[in-house]
Amino acid sequence: MAYQSVNPNDGKVLKSFEHMSNAQLEKSLAAAESCFQTWKHKSYAERAIVLNRAAALLRAHVDDFAKLATLEMGKRMAEARGEVAFSADILAYYAEHAEAFLAPVKLHPKNGEAHVESSPTGVLFCVEPWNFPYYQLARVAGPQLMAGNVLVVKHAACVPQCAIAFEGLLRDAGAPVGAYTNLLISYEQSDRVIDDPRIRGVALTGSLAAGRSLAARAGRNLKKSTMELGGSDAFIVLDDADLDLTIPWAVWGRMFNGGQTCCAAKRFIVLDSIADQFLAKFKTALEALKPGDPMDETTTHGPLSSEAALVQLLAQVDAAVKGGASLLMGGKRIARPGSFMQTTILADIRPGNPAFRDEFFGPVVSFYRVKGEEEAIALANDSDFGLGGSVWTRDEARGKRVASRVDTGMMFVNNIDWADAELPFGGIKSSGYGRELGHMGIQEFVNKKLVRTGHIAAPV
Ligand code: NAP
Repeated sequence: MAYQSVNPNDGKVLKSFEHMSNAQLEKSLAAAESCFQTWKHKSYAERAIVLNRAAALLRAHVDDFAKLATLEMGKRMAEARGEVAFSADILAYYAEHAEAFLAPVKLHPKNGEAHVESSPTGVLFCVEPWNFPYYQLARVAGPQLMAGNVLVVKHAACVPQCAIAFEGLLRDAGAPVGAYTNLLISYEQSDRVIDDPRIRGVALTGSLAAGRSLAARAGRNLKKSTMELGGSDAFIVLDDADLDLTIPWAVWGRMFNGGQTCCAAKRFIVLDSIADQFLAKFKTALEALKPGDPMDETTTHGPLSSEAALVQLLAQVDAAVKGGASLLMGGKRIARPGSFMQTTILADIRPGNPAFRDEFFGPVVSFYRVKGEEEAIALANDSDFGLGGSVWTRDEARGKRVASRVDTGMMFVNNIDWADAELPFGGIKSSGYGRELGHMGIQEFVNKKLVRTGHIAAPV
């Protein structure tokens, strides 16, 4: 079945959906293009009414939205509620600030006057992952709808009910037909959407493989794209770190959302003098987590999103051990129904081991012991990815110095409070390009048009 929700807590199929036909796809693209012709002329205030209503509806029905995410991809209920509330915040944030972000910018040429104005560009194609089934949609819908663009969206095949619920949310909030359309389409249909001349931009959040495919297709069509891809973020623990602060963040950073977060802490790089102490406390904290039904509020360790995700992660751990890594904890599936993985710690991972470069999307810690700060920075930078990372130290100035030398799109000192509506999000290197959220996310798909005025005599 093309799109299917399966509860990863027990493997039961919940609902299945066929791909839409090519005729339905054409109808959706035509509706989007037609909607753009009126939506682009709406005032910011008119667009904000729709976005604010959508935010209010999300807040009024947090549990309904959250429950669907928990059922379809196994996110713990408390985390799902948090995601729904955060998605509402993002929609409301852009409703409030879009006009200021996109206000004309006055320039100061030697002759005459000039300004740059921002105008919407058209229908955008967004392809989104299952790990944050609403937040990822809000991250594109909030800024782009407020900018005057309209969206056609392909969500991940395992969260069709969340995808349909989000489309319904915008419809209920009063968005005109074509402003936001969910597409249940195949990869082949997705390629054709990118090729379609009505599509003006492509935004993907997903894996490296998807990034290569969609960025190439967009490039061939000379279409602007943004790529929010994977990561293997370093969690650098300096010798003066406050472990009482650090350990709970280490657990959260690796285990939040079942460890399935692009900017999760994945490589724990710890200075030798504090490494044994850190490792002992980290292990104890991970052992205290309680696997169970993600609907149960007392569960602290939920399932992975699918059986396929579990099988892939187990294979990665096996390959790491075959490649010489030591298994300090876990490494197996949990003996119960559903796709549950033990919390796992790998150490002694050397260059050449696939685990040295690959992203682990689940509760697997890669632990590295280093002699000093320089080695920590060098190891953090020895990665194909460049999404985020964090530094832990009692000396904030030292933390900022180290953060400045790590080659990623985002760095955090003494916290990994990753995402806020106000803060730009994105990476470099194989983690992609472009930014979402904050004042930057809304600038990605608007035309920055220069207008110069004044009677200036032609050069002779
Ligand atoms: P994925 O397999 O790349 O899927 C993401 C989306 O891309 C899904 O909708 C998927 O559709 C679609 N897709 C994949 N290949 C495609 C193709 N050739 N043509 C058209 N659509 C295609 O990624 P995932 O494994 O589900 O998600 C996890 C990855 O996303 C991780 O690497 C994670 O780090 C990254 N991520 C990054 C960010 C960020 O902001 N940087 C945020 C969250 C996640 P189907 O489901 O139908 O295959």
